[in-house]
Amino acid sequence: QETLKKGWHFDNSYGRLPQTFFTNQGAVPVQTPKLIIFNTLLAASLGLNVEALNSDEGAEVFAGNLIPEGAEPLAQAYAGHQFGNFNMLGDGRALLLGEQITPQGERVDIQLKGSGRTPYSRGGDGRAAVGPMLREYIISEAMYALGIPTTRSLAVVSTGENITRETERPGAILTRVASSHLRVATFQYAARWGSIDELRALADYTLKRHFPDIAEADNRYLQLLQEVIRRQASLIAKWQQVGFIHGVMNTDNMAISGETIDYGPCAFMDAYNPATVFSSIDTQGRYAYGNQPYIGGWNLARFAETLLPLLHEDEEQAVQIAQDAIAQFSELYHHHWLSGMRSKLGLFNEEAEDEVLIRDLLELMEKHSADYTNTFLALTFDTLNGAPLFDTSEFVEWNERRQARLGRQQEGKEESQQLMKSNNPAVIPRNHRVEEALDRAENHGDLSVMEKLLAVLSNPFEHSTEQAEYAELPTQCDTSYRTFCGT
Ligand code: AMP
Ligand code: MG
Ligand code: MG
Repeated sequence: QETLKKGWHFDNSYGRLPQTFFTNQGAVPVQTPKLIIFNTLLAASLGLNVEALNSDEGAEVFAGNLIPEGAEPLAQAYAGHQFGNFNMLGDGRALLLGEQITPQGERVDIQLKGSGRTPYSRGGDGRAAVGPMLREYIISEAMYALGIPTTRSLAVVSTGENITRETERPGAILTRVASSHLRVATFQYAARWGSIDELRALADYTLKRHFPDIAEADNRYLQLLQEVIRRQASLIAKWQQVGFIHGVMNTDNMAISGETIDYGPCAFMDAYNPATVFSSIDTQGRYAYGNQPYIGGWNLARFAETLLPLLHEDEEQAVQIAQDAIAQFSELYHHHWLSGMRSKLGLFNEEAEDEVLIRDLLELMEKHSADYTNTFLALTFDTLNGAPLFDTSEFVEWNERRQARLGRQQEGKEESQQLMKSNNPAVIPRNHRVEEALDRAENHGDLSVMEKLLAVLSNPFEHSTEQAEYAELPTQCDTSYRTFCGT
């Protein structure tokens, strides 16, 4: 019985929400699905039968051609702000198969991305290409290894069908694992088109699923808002610390769970510059590296607005409660950011001047186009050479301040270096490395480069010579690197 079920233990609690929140439907079948990559460690941790699914039959499942026992696929409805404009959205190319209950009793969404058209597809074809789905696989797994809350990637299958973008590209479907796909935009949808009872049902569902400890509290909707604010403040601070640029922080891409979601045009910053943007469509720099905390706050204000009818009967009082909660975000963010940056510099205790020390370093990095990741590595290992920044008198002066500051804490050099080693990754998914792996996989059917890259990225805090090789910058400067949405 167990082997027949391949380890699937589905529950479908989302499908028990009011009907307005989703549309039941199956995937649009594809011709000849083939597994390109399968995350065996993740599969095992979900209680799945790895051998049975790492197979032709597994390919049929992860393509949506074969629905596993107990799954009740559906497309989720949501509506939110894309680049500041409110639109009706929804899963236009994804299906929630259901929620897998893991052997540890956790509940995770199993979602197929690229599974064909749904009622929410608008003009789109419901499909995805091999390159971008492998890209999501690589970067989401790298984020996981960096200790940053994120959705994960279980499998990518090629469909055997081409899709039309700028050119014809081979199609693919990604299986995404998330603690849920509840988004700020799910609440915006409920607030705009649902009844108050439907909104409350969504909020209560979210509380039960993500915040069971406060699910019965009298002021539970305020606590829900506060918890989501806390998680996002912590998450975005973590992004900033590793130089991650999400690229499309629309409200449909902000998860209530506090996980990073939707790896479309994201990329890691090389040279430190707050204005860094990779996304080809972000012409105004709305989602630039330095703007991410502000956009986080903006999105959370949209979330707070959806909860107003639940916060207080009196609208004015509800607005006041929401504003007070939102005002906490920048403080919380700043707290997380500062303590994370202290760790990157090997500082255990707190001094009032620390923030100036940190900001001065960042300013110098910007001025001298210093690589963000590698500058912190050089500081970690005291290998302060090889980049123009280190030869400047400004930096030498700054470094003397740093040394003096380190001397004023109890912990010695070794402890300080240990702290830095566990906060400054030896490797990040460098754009040129990711592109090289994708090119080999998509255009040459060669997965070996990607598998090697994934192995290295799975240990970002292991400072070995192999990791160091992957820290190297591209021979050609790739400041013109561009990323794309919806591919
Ligand atoms: P994103 O920018 O990835 O957050 O996507 C925004 C919206 O567009 C979501 O509702 C997606 O489901 C939808 N979408 C993106 N690509 C496609 C596609 N190829 N076909 C249909 N819908 C899509
Ligand atoms: Mg999205
Ligand atoms: Mg996307």
